[in-house]
Amino acid sequence: MEKGWAGLPYHPISHVYNKKFGGKVYKIPVSVVDNCPNRMGLKGMETCVFCDVWGSAAKSESFTMDLHTQIQTFRKNITKRFNAQNFLVYFQAYTNTFTKLTTLENNFATALDYDFVKGLVIGTRPDCLSPAVLKLWQKYHEQSFVAVELGVQSFFDDQLDFLKRGHSRQQSIDAILRIAENTQVDLGIHLIFGNPGETDEHLIETAEIINDLPVSNVKLHNLHVLKNTTLEVLYNDKKFEPITREEYARKVKVFLEVLSPKIAIQRLAAFASRWDELVAPIWASDKMGTHQYIIDTLRNNNTHQSAKYIPLSPEEEQLCLQLKNQSRSLLEPQAD
Ligand code: SF4
Repeated sequence: MEKGWAGLPYHPISHVYNKKFGGKVYKIPVSVVDNCPNRMGLKGMETCVFCDVWGSAAKSESFTMDLHTQIQTFRKNITKRFNAQNFLVYFQAYTNTFTKLTTLENNFATALDYDFVKGLVIGTRPDCLSPAVLKLWQKYHEQSFVAVELGVQSFFDDQLDFLKRGHSRQQSIDAILRIAENTQVDLGIHLIFGNPGETDEHLIETAEIINDLPVSNVKLHNLHVLKNTTLEVLYNDKKFEPITREEYARKVKVFLEVLSPKIAIQRLAAFASRWDELVAPIWASDKMGTHQYIIDTLRNNNTHQSAKYIPLSPEEEQLCLQLKNQSRSLLEPQAD
């Protein structure tokens, strides 16, 4: 088995990073903008139903620090825990292209000034991509690693309406194609499972849409309720009920089985980093337990990413076989 897949029933992003950087890289999440078109109510948009006051940032304390301090502080903490050497600076909170171009460029330059920073990861929305932003990404791609994480969340307009995303399925598809046509950055998308009315057909169609797009990885989230969000109001009014961990794991299985083996998985589930803000479901606070539960669900069903995918090339066929073998490798007795 190729080193880096670690016997997992899916294609982990760590494998991509190991190959690219020759070892593990860790993300330093930073917060440099404090708004987005939704929160500002541009064109009648509303705050996304699941978004708390921190704009999906991992660390609320980041907002009190400048970029240098954030990078140095979080690098120190991560190094202490994991003996980490190499890092990517992840511009995570809010919409990171919703600011002046000069500010964006200064932030990128500041991050890349550190020897231990091997690249940038930029989180944004499908409707905040000016030609100048794409040009800037390409410029930085030519000198470093640049990855973009696009908040697509769903390819179904009724689900996007429920989430109050303020963009459509077509806008997401157009954004993905525009990024690929104008840049060579690594492109990942975020998806949310557990929306009301979501069926297995939606999950299968989502995988099929992604298979046909120039997307290199996906990050999966379970829709969970945080304090002071619209979703909390809906939950309290019994208009939204989060799915169980069992059901979420089953949905991930249905999606992964159809997903191309080329597409790497950044994360199998979201978890609430600020536990005191989590309203429901409680399992969204159990990061490792949920991750393992999903892996166990795949293994117990003797399935894996791409189990139902029809390979389109010898390379894909090889990757499908690799996924099949590695997913079985921990079920069967190991030969020395
Ligand atoms: S999820 Fe992103 S786009 Fe939506 S309200 Fe929060 S910061 Fe804005």
